Amino acid sequence: MATIALDPRLDKNTSNFISSEHRMLIDGKFVKAASGKTLPVYNPATGEVMAHVPEAEAVDVDRAARAARRAFDEGPWQRKITASQRGRLLWKLADLLESHLEEFAELESMDNGKPLAVARAADVPLAVDLFRYMGGWATKIMGQTFPISFPGEYLTYTLREPIGVVGQIIPWNFPLLMAAWKLGPALAAGNTVVLKLAEQTPLSGLRLAELIQEAGFPEGVVNVLTGYGEGAGAPLAAHDLVDKIAFTGSTEVGKLIVGAARGNLKKVTLELGGKSPAIVFPDADLDKAIAGTASAIFFNHGQCCCAGSRLLAHKDVYDRVVEGVSDIASKIRVGSGLDPETQMGPLVSEEQYQRVSGFIDSGLNEGAKATAGGRPAAEKGYFVHPTVLTHTKPEMKVIREEIFGPVVCAMPFNDDDIDRIAREANDTIYGLAASVWTSNLSIANKMAKRLKSGTVWINCHNVFDAALPFGGYKQSGWGREMGGDVFNSYTEVKAVTTAL
Ligand code: ADP
Repeated sequence: MATIALDPRLDKNTSNFISSEHRMLIDGKFVKAASGKTLPVYNPATGEVMAHVPEAEAVDVDRAARAARRAFDEGPWQRKITASQRGRLLWKLADLLESHLEEFAELESMDNGKPLAVARAADVPLAVDLFRYMGGWATKIMGQTFPISFPGEYLTYTLREPIGVVGQIIPWNFPLLMAAWKLGPALAAGNTVVLKLAEQTPLSGLRLAELIQEAGFPEGVVNVLTGYGEGAGAPLAAHDLVDKIAFTGSTEVGKLIVGAARGNLKKVTLELGGKSPAIVFPDADLDKAIAGTASAIFFNHGQCCCAGSRLLAHKDVYDRVVEGVSDIASKIRVGSGLDPETQMGPLVSEEQYQRVSGFIDSGLNEGAKATAGGRPAAEKGYFVHPTVLTHTKPEMKVIREEIFGPVVCAMPFNDDDIDRIAREANDTIYGLAASVWTSNLSIANKMAKRLKSGTVWINCHNVFDAALPFGGYKQSGWGREMGGDVFNSYTEVKAVTTAL
């Protein structure tokens, strides 16, 4: 493989890792794909290939699933390792990750394109925190006792047991954090895992696999694969030895996962797309609402499933809000994630660049107007200017479909009826998140009750915590990630009744 010149601003360890020969973690060993095939990894700021990683196919998935099965059925993970030891392994992993914070921030910035400062302040510390939080849960996953009324005397209790082998498929928008969201609870509950990384952003997950080995997880408990969706994700979702599949990605692929899981009726959880409204009432603190709704869409370049991509503002404040958000959008400095001045990096891939540009063009062709952005940002690299579209109509593609880029559609509402406003906000197939901007507690909480979404933020957006359940109503998914609720989908419940 030809050596690829990497950005000289990178730390030597990071460059060395990116340029190294990458291998997947299967059964406690770092291995190539059985076919020897690799897939290219691009630097989104330049469009150049910067690494190659193994291209797993069905045979590799099978090897990993068998290893995870053995580790669950026969290895020390179930019977010899206590809940407290599982917790300590997760804490050890968190400590190792924290001690490599800078390296992971660089990997994330290089691979995904996000500004280094964002990866440093958000992605890596949130992943560390998640592993610690879930490590704490390992000793707190409990059943209950029940006062049953069946004639006679009985002692009845429930056990919460791990499901078994969990397949996990993650996207490219927060590569490390998504790996943490998936691995943390699965391992805390005592499952074994086959994790497939996103083909666009495999580097931080592969480095995490090294730390998983260093932390001392028994072989086969965590297997980490790189490969394409159809080549590796689909056989994982369909595999008979896999008891549960946890997927984060597009709603379209989520539906394919449901189909693939049918064979052995494996359990399925899905964290899918969104078209989240940010709703500004006329009594809101407008400076905060403008800054907050701009950040709701432009954080992580709009590549968040919960991005506030529909900005609904009351007609009395609409012009000011649009002007304020457009002003912020036009001042955002777009550039390489490694440049300290950069506030927004490139989109993750050529495909996303084409997709997002296509959405902007379709909106403009159908009569929308751009008050900021609306055009490609650079000759090379996948840069798109933060864009604000007005004069949209409810039936337009930009309103109905998830864009997953830095594009917000602003719409006025001419109403003071809470139910009608909520109906408009709920007029989407998605139901992941929403934010409400108002200084009126009653309006805020009435809206919170009426919005059909798994998360409602009041006077904030994109506030995440390992303790908070996250997931979607409607076509935004099945089940919840994080918090204590996540264990509902990483454990089986067994009712045990003894006649006394
Ligand atoms: P995005 O559109 O944001 O790239 P996708 O839903 O296409 O999101 O991809 C998210 C993850 O799902 C990636 O790891 C990808 O490889 C995987 N994936 C894509 N297609 C399939 C499929 N048919 N079966 C299983 N996994 C898939």
